[in-house]
Amino acid sequence: MKRITVIGCGVVGAAIAYELSLCPGIQVVVVDGAPPAQGSTAAALGVAMAVISHKVKGRNWRLRERSLKRYQTLILELASLTGRSIQHNAQGILSLCFAAEDLPRWRSLQAIRQGQGYPLEIWEPGQVGDRCPHLNGEGVVAGIYSPQDFQVNPTDLTLALVAGAQAHGAEFYFGEPVTGFGGVEVEVAPQEDWRCTAVHTLSQSFAADAIVLATGLGTLPLTQALHRPTAIGPVLGQALRIHLDEPMGSSEFQPVVNGHDIHLVPLGGSDYWVGATVEFPPETSLDEALAMQPEAARLDEVLAGAIAYCPALANGMITQRWSGLRPRPQGQAAPVIQPLTGYSNIWLATGHYRNGVLLAPATALAVRDELERPG
Ligand SMILES: Cc1cc2nc3c(=O)[nH]c(=O)nc-3n(C[C@H](O)[C@H](O)[C@H](O)COP(=O)(O)OP(=O)(O)OC[C@H]3O[C@@H](n4cnc5c(N)ncnc54)[C@H](O)[C@@H]3O)c2cc1C
Repeated sequence: MKRITVIGCGVVGAAIAYELSLCPGIQVVVVDGAPPAQGSTAAALGVAMAVISHKVKGRNWRLRERSLKRYQTLILELASLTGRSIQHNAQGILSLCFAAEDLPRWRSLQAIRQGQGYPLEIWEPGQVGDRCPHLNGEGVVAGIYSPQDFQVNPTDLTLALVAGAQAHGAEFYFGEPVTGFGGVEVEVAPQEDWRCTAVHTLSQSFAADAIVLATGLGTLPLTQALHRPTAIGPVLGQALRIHLDEPMGSSEFQPVVNGHDIHLVPLGGSDYWVGATVEFPPETSLDEALAMQPEAARLDEVLAGAIAYCPALANGMITQRWSGLRPRPQGQAAPVIQPLTGYSNIWLATGHYRNGVLLAPATALAVRDELERPG
């Protein structure tokens, strides 16, 4: 049995654990300092923009497309395996276009997506009003509708991935922060093919044939202990939940709406998520960033932006406000999915920044492809 230890149980670590748990000959152990789905995952809205994103080629598009394909079966597969309900919205994403000069870019994206086999519709403003009467058409020059993009509740998904992996024999250890590694006695960075043989927490050690760091913002201290510092910085995001007396628009058609990079996520019934801010805290340590009180005014601006395109939100009652820190790689592109330099058995699966929920399945498959190889 090949024993693979995954450190971190946000949406990325949980997805990796689940995909690996399906592989014969692999024993999965997941270790997290916290319960599952805390960290950045707890704050996410779970909007998955693949077809409607302007990434059309290269690694970023391949990851998005692979996730999109895996998601087509993943949610139902997990729901039936675990009996858990996973809130998701499969009615597509509608992006409001307010600038006529952006239309050629959308038309070119539409043509590319058509060639790739993905529908992307460009609606006249009147059609936006007909399909979504709750939206204010003022200033809208077009609606870009992607029927295949979607939203999934990140916490529901992560907990279902954990339960699914457990059903396939994976072991989970929560409340166990990883503090060090076995087999790394060198004082300097290893040159190549160094192997790490164990993961240590304060209370126990886990023998490992391979290790995956899915540690988001916790990546730097662990990679420092491995003499290969990989910096992942925090980007603050705030969001809110709003309750209305009745659902907005047509009960038949409730897509996720995006206007000016502000998401409106129907959750079913008459509850909606609105978010999120994208705030770069000043140069601070992670601990300081975690302790910082977010500015309420920044979230109020986001809500005002959402009310501008969806006026009925003004009558709603805010039932929850929250914030989280997105893990953003410093000095390299997001996400970081690669071997840790100098080591033959450590993988980084981190730094997913604004798209960790979208990219978790593709990340898990990429890690699985590497780790299920013999050796
Ligand atoms: C407001 C907001 C909205 C967002 N909206 C979206 C969205 O709509 N769509 C989307 O795709 N993404 C969204 N994101 C981004 C998304 O949340 C992240 O990209 C994703 O959650 C990253 O997942 P992760 O598993 O890598 O990290 P995390 O969820 O942060 O998990 C990392 C885990 O590692 C553990 N860990 C760290 N260090 C150690 C250690 N030493 N020992 C043991 N365990 C350790 C932590 O306890 C944590 O559980 C949003 C983020 C925010 C803040």
